Amino acid sequence: MDMRSLDRLGDEIAELSAHLDAATAHLLDLIREFDARGGWNTGFRSCAAWLAWRVGLDPGAARERVRVAHALGTLPLLARALARGELSYAKVRALTRVATPETEARLLAVGRAGTAAHVERIVRGWRRVDRKAEARETARRHASRALHVYQDEDGMVVIRGRLAPEVGALLVQALTAAREALYQQRRADVSAETPSPDVSAKTPTMAEQQADALALLAETALHSGIDPGAPGERYQVVVHVDAPVLADPDAPGQSVLEDGTHVSAETSRRLACDASRVVMRHAPDGQVVEVGARTRTIPPAIRRALHHRDRGCRFPGCGLPFGQGHHIRHWAHGGPTTLSNLALLCRRHHRAVHEEGYQVDRQPDGELRFRRPDGRLLPEVPPPAAIPADPVQALLARHDAQGLRLHARTAIPGWLGERLNVGWAIDVMHPLAG
Ligand SMILES: [Zn+2]
Ligand SMILES: [Zn+2]
Repeated sequence: MDMRSLDRLGDEIAELSAHLDAATAHLLDLIREFDARGGWNTGFRSCAAWLAWRVGLDPGAARERVRVAHALGTLPLLARALARGELSYAKVRALTRVATPETEARLLAVGRAGTAAHVERIVRGWRRVDRKAEARETARRHASRALHVYQDEDGMVVIRGRLAPEVGALLVQALTAAREALYQQRRADVSAETPSPDVSAKTPTMAEQQADALALLAETALHSGIDPGAPGERYQVVVHVDAPVLADPDAPGQSVLEDGTHVSAETSRRLACDASRVVMRHAPDGQVVEVGARTRTIPPAIRRALHHRDRGCRFPGCGLPFGQGHHIRHWAHGGPTTLSNLALLCRRHHRAVHEEGYQVDRQPDGELRFRRPDGRLLPEVPPPAAIPADPVQALLARHDAQGLRLHARTAIPGWLGERLNVGWAIDVMHPLAG
C-alpha cells in the first residue's frame, strides 16, 4: 500500500468520525426529548437504565450519554459544534462537565483550539477552581452557623439562628414529626373527652405548634439520651393488617401504621412480602387473645439461596445487587416461601409489582415473565432495531440531504504545536479564578 492510499484511508477515518459525531449530536437530541417526555418510565428506574437495556450500553456510558444530552440542552454553542462534526463527542463530553451558559463560548474556543488531551487537562484544572470556589462558599456558610438563645424581659426565651442547609433540613423534619405527634395526641384527647368550651375550639397557630414541637424535641432528646444508637434501630415501621386484607386488597379490613396512618392494601402486601411478622389474634371485641412468636417471612437459608440464584433485582434492565424477596404468589394467598415462588426485586421494582400494576409470573420453564400495567410484555432483551443494509451509506446520505458537508479536516484542532500552560489558560478564562 503506497503512502497516498494510506493518506486516503486516514482521511476516510477522519471523515467518518466527523459523521459519527454529527450523528451522536442527533442521538443526544433524541435522548433528551425521550427523557423529558418520560419515555423510559415503563418500569425503568431512569433514562440511563432504559438506554442500557434498549441499546446495550454499559451503565456508566449510558449515564454519561444522558448527562451530556441534558447539558447540551442549555449549551447551544457546544451542541451546534458537535452537530456540525467540528468537535468530537470526547471533547464535548469533557467540556460539558464544567461549561455553563456564561462560560460556554470560552470553552468552545478551548475545544476548537486544543486536542482532546488539552481539553481534558483544561477541564480538570477548571474543576479544581470550581471546587475551590465551592469549598470557600461551604466554609463561609459553615463559619456563619450560629444559634443564639437569650431571655426576653418578660422571661420568655428567644431563639435565633442560622443552620447549614442539611442541619436545617434535619431540624425541620424533626419539628414536623414532633408536631404531627402532638397533633395526633390532641385529636385523640379531643375525641375522647367531652370538649370543655374554654380550651377546645381554638386550634394553635403554626408558630405555636412549632414552639410546642421544639419543646417535645428537647424532652425526647433528654429522655432517651443523646446517643441515637445504630441507624437500623432508629426507625421501624410497624403495620397492622387485618388478615383478609393481605389475602385480597378489596376485602373489608384495615392496614394502619403504628401511628395510625392508613396505608393502601397494596402497600401493606408489599411490606408483608418480605418482613418479620408477629401474628396476633383478636377477639371480636378487639382484645388481643394470642400473640405468636416473631418469625421472618423468608427464613435466612432460603434468602441466601435466593440471593445466590438471582444475584440482583430480576426486573428487566435493572439488576441492582440487593433487594427484597417477592412472593410471586403472595403468602397470604397460600403462596409457599420456596425458591420457585420467590424473585429478588429492588425496592423500586418491588413497589412496581405491588402498587403500580406491573405483573410478574414464572413460566413452566422457570423463566420469569414481566408485563406492563397495560399487559404488554417487558422482555429481558429488547427486540433488535431495524437498520438499513449499509448503515454508513445511509448516514452519509442523510447528512448530505441535510446540507452537512463533512470532510477529513472538519474536526482538526487549531493547535499549532505550542506548549499548553493550563494554569495560565484557566487564570485567563475562568470567571472565579484568582
Ligand atoms: Zn412482593
Ligand atoms: Zn430493580
